Amino acid sequence: MSPQATQTMRLVFLGPPGAGKGTQAKVLEDRFAVRQISTGDILRANVKSGTPLGLEAKSFMDAGQLVPDDVIIRMMRGELAGGESFILDGFPRTIAQAQALDETLASLSLPLTAVIMFEADRDTLIARLTGRWTNPRTGRTYHAVFNPPKVAGIDDEDGGPLEQRRDDTRDVVVERLGEYDAKTAPLIEYYRKTGLLVSVDGLEPIDSVTSAVLSAIDGPAKARP
Ligand code: ADP
Ligand code: ADP
Repeated sequence: MSPQATQTMRLVFLGPPGAGKGTQAKVLEDRFAVRQISTGDILRANVKSGTPLGLEAKSFMDAGQLVPDDVIIRMMRGELAGGESFILDGFPRTIAQAQALDETLASLSLPLTAVIMFEADRDTLIARLTGRWTNPRTGRTYHAVFNPPKVAGIDDEDGGPLEQRRDDTRDVVVERLGEYDAKTAPLIEYYRKTGLLVSVDGLEPIDSVTSAVLSAIDGPAKARP
């Protein structure tokens, strides 16, 4: 059975850059009353408008390194207070961030309902990220080969221009994958222990991944009324 459009879901999307987290978050956002909270999108918006947070984060992002935990944790506290249902896309990315998230959600009485781990191999991730085209206004992504827009360089939805992110170059991608292995991969074990973790095969076509995510959500969410 599929989840109801109004079902409460508080999800963490875990997985390396390029695994398809943002793509699936947008699909769920379109179908359910759930908000995608993408730390990458929030940071890029801050960089673009030149806020103090953006200035602090920019050099790390350009180098493909994680932004320091204290900066991210401060930023996320405000975001989480806003709703019953959410998808955390790109957060937490370290054990310290996961612990801060646990504390914040406990204080808000908003426990997570599932953690979805998107699995994909390194060569696929590199091919996906170096061919990714992004709508900087909405964060929606396409791929030059795997998921092309109807008109090259133009978003199907808002008709505006797509761009390649400055950190989607091969060198920076390799750095980001290294950061993932060193700092984010330990979260798999962290969340396995909570019983909330479900893995999906991120190599499947986009629609199949969506089906797998929906089954995964239905499982743990049902067990927790
Ligand atoms: P993440 O948010 O995990 O970094 P994205 O959702 O932005 O990843 O996806 C990375 C790239 O791969 C994008 O160009 C996207 O269009 C493409 N993509 C996402 N899911 C799939 C899939 N299941 N099959 C093929 N390409 C995909
Ligand atoms: P992707 O999923 O393609 O790796 P994101 O848009 O999620 O990209 O993140 C882009 C960059 O923003 C990261 O390389 C990192 O510098 C920064 N960033 C995003 N989320 C976090 C986070 N939770 N902790 C630290 N840095 C982050």
